[in-house]
Amino acid sequence: MQSIVIVEDEQDIADLLALYFRKEGWDVSLCDEGVRALDVIRSRQPDFVILDIGLRGEQDGFDVCRELRTTSNVPVLFLTARDDEIDRILGLELGADDYVTKPFSPREVVARVKAILRRGAGTTTTPTHAEFGPVSIDLARHEVANGGTAITLAAQEFALLAYLVENRGIALSRDQILAGAWGPDWVGDTRTVDVHIRQLRRKVGEELPLVTVRGTGYRLG
Ligand code: CA
Repeated sequence: MQSIVIVEDEQDIADLLALYFRKEGWDVSLCDEGVRALDVIRSRQPDFVILDIGLRGEQDGFDVCRELRTTSNVPVLFLTARDDEIDRILGLELGADDYVTKPFSPREVVARVKAILRRGAGTTTTPTHAEFGPVSIDLARHEVANGGTAITLAAQEFALLAYLVENRGIALSRDQILAGAWGPDWVGDTRTVDVHIRQLRRKVGEELPLVTVRGTGYRLG
């Protein structure tokens, strides 16, 4: 059984999401406070975390995610109520895998969560290894290293890199990259691609031959 932790202080939203995930056969744990969220996540070891950004108390969803990422790569979906929060999600390197804007349909959230898990599962079934100078990428083992030093990527960053590796040498448009690395269910704009590309370049290093193709998008190798 798959398990999920939902961190949300609005009881009706939490209950609605819990209802939908339980209907799908998930084991659901709820938490309504940022300061307790990490304890709940550490004790439950869920397959997925849904994290509301605006939480009462001392820690908001950003704080929880930042701390969670020091020890865990569990996929995280943010719930957000405001545009300026979306800018922060995209601008900060929080390692969130996706976000949904309130008000949302619970069905959409379930679909989004499944899509993220599918992406993660999909990359493990096509064992591929790629080397670019000192950079080595093992898609099967989810391992990336530069000069022998392991690099930690968020799940979505890895999905993007995997898609680029699988299509290496091909110039890909931002829309193609969104469809391929985020999945057909993802709704959003293409600046997400640019933000993630920037993070990949920074984290993996300039030895990764990730080329900006003017007027098109990006190409690896
Ligand atoms: Ca809230």
